Amino acid sequence: MLFKDVCDIFYKIESTTKRLEKMDYFVELIRLTKEKGSAEDLKKICYIAIGRVFAEYENKELGIGPNLLIEAVKTIGINEKKLLNSIKETGDIGVAVEKLSSEIKQVSLFQTPPTLDDVYDTLKKISEIEGTNSQKKKIRHISSLLLKSSPIERRYLARLILEDMRIGMSVPTILSAFSVYFNIPKEKLEKIYAVVNDIGLIAEKLMLNVDIDKDEDLKLRIFRPIKPMLAQLISSIDDAIIEMGAPQFETKYDGARVQIHKKDENVKIYSRKLEDITNSIPEIVEEVKNMEEDNIIVEGECVAIDLKTGHPRPFQDILRRFRRKYDIDKMKEEINLRVYLFDILYYNESLIDLPLKERRKILENIIGTNDWERDKAKIENEIKSKKKIDISYKLTTDNLEKAMEFYKWSLNIGHEGIMIKNPNAPYTPGSRVRTMYKFKPTLESLDVVITRAKMGMGKRKDWYGSFEISVKDEEGNLYPIGHVGSGLTEEELGRLTEMIESIKINEIDGEAIVEPKIVLEVSYEEIQESDKYECGYALRFPRVVRIREDKSIDDINTLEDIKRIFAIQKGKGKNKK
Ligand code: AMP
Repeated sequence: MLFKDVCDIFYKIESTTKRLEKMDYFVELIRLTKEKGSAEDLKKICYIAIGRVFAEYENKELGIGPNLLIEAVKTIGINEKKLLNSIKETGDIGVAVEKLSSEIKQVSLFQTPPTLDDVYDTLKKISEIEGTNSQKKKIRHISSLLLKSSPIERRYLARLILEDMRIGMSVPTILSAFSVYFNIPKEKLEKIYAVVNDIGLIAEKLMLNVDIDKDEDLKLRIFRPIKPMLAQLISSIDDAIIEMGAPQFETKYDGARVQIHKKDENVKIYSRKLEDITNSIPEIVEEVKNMEEDNIIVEGECVAIDLKTGHPRPFQDILRRFRRKYDIDKMKEEINLRVYLFDILYYNESLIDLPLKERRKILENIIGTNDWERDKAKIENEIKSKKKIDISYKLTTDNLEKAMEFYKWSLNIGHEGIMIKNPNAPYTPGSRVRTMYKFKPTLESLDVVITRAKMGMGKRKDWYGSFEISVKDEEGNLYPIGHVGSGLTEEELGRLTEMIESIKINEIDGEAIVEPKIVLEVSYEEIQESDKYECGYALRFPRVVRIREDKSIDDINTLEDIKRIFAIQKGKGKNKK
């Protein structure tokens, strides 16, 4: 299949803002692939359409920055100054290269146009290039692709290299197109997607006409991490009791989420963003290896425990451990980790469709119980122990008083609040569900994403110092809700500046527009109604609590959350601390 055939339809997709039309064009693309291509081709098209080379669960990026791409574009004869001007004008390196195509030196009139395989396979190859002269080698591959291409192909090639296609294609839209073309209910496809986290694989299987209910590759599988189930904020415990009857309350630990997979004595641990962090926490790996059970996926919160007080140490300590590649033994001595397991997703078979109370029973059979009412003495004894793996503290009740007591006790031992879970609910990967709530003392802390950044002034002139922060709506559109500059240490400002440089898309009036990748947890005095921002709200006096490198744009708060907190602020909240 020619890359040009795909690009022509991408162009149509890009030209409309309507989701339904985008979906129709994607159906056209499937039809074309059926005619001219293979199942493998559709797989590649899916990845490319969402700006990827690797499957989503792989958590791997091509990692080519704009500078390298610009270098490659220069080698094919485009003048740097003209290129930079055009990027500034259009705000898009893809369009810039396309427009300047007439400047490109023609190598031969008989160049064969690139196929889809040429493009995809070359990019895969580029991702594997390491060592000396790697930059040069990468540039050579990119230039040769660019040379072979026509202007429209260059537009999408340049964007793909930066992994930002800007055609407005998303996984949900692709799933809708599959649903229409293959005549399968969308909910069914969504459910499978949540488990496999790989749109290309689904495309391939559908093209091959497999029985998607039975195909083993489409089921939960060890060493293929799944997106965690997410919680919603709730403003009062009694609302949750009314909704759920007798919920399962658990301590909400102040740590970082981990997903642990084990099979044939091999252990892999993934972060919330599905990064492989196995090597940075060897003591936990060791403990899991010692467990008798095998063929298992469990989930929990990893906390750094201060063994003197039993309280959790600052969240940054855990991130320091997760990020660490060297001196791990030394860190192991300094920072004592414990994982509180709170769910089990797989034990010889997938368990995610079982209700929570049954999954919990299976987990308790393996780890033991921590029933707050019955085991409280044991729990309090063990808090300061060196125990590395434990089960979350749990209380199942419909009694508000008792639940409040558990909540206060959880805060007293230094944690964030409580989780409130529906004992009858299955595990729904990747979605923020109304079957799991979080309840914290104040609703002040929000997770937001940086969308723009401005350089600082005075002492801070070498760093970015002010950040536009945004929340998202249900569809994933971003809405700025404030600017934040305070709360960051110099070390953090330095780190943020580096991160921002690597994801900068464009610069307008000295302000960097960035890919929405950096998540900040911010506190603020209140949420105000405001005309300043399109969403109608603004944060008053926002302040960074911490940089949430463990979170991605999937995890940020929504406009709905803002509205809910705004309503609570107005006095509708009950039993807040
Ligand atoms: P948040 O990060 O504020 O969205 O809150 C939900 C997060 O709380 C989960 O993603 C977990 O990382 C964390 N957490 C801490 N304790 C628990 C628990 N007992 N059950 C589930 N999640 C927990």
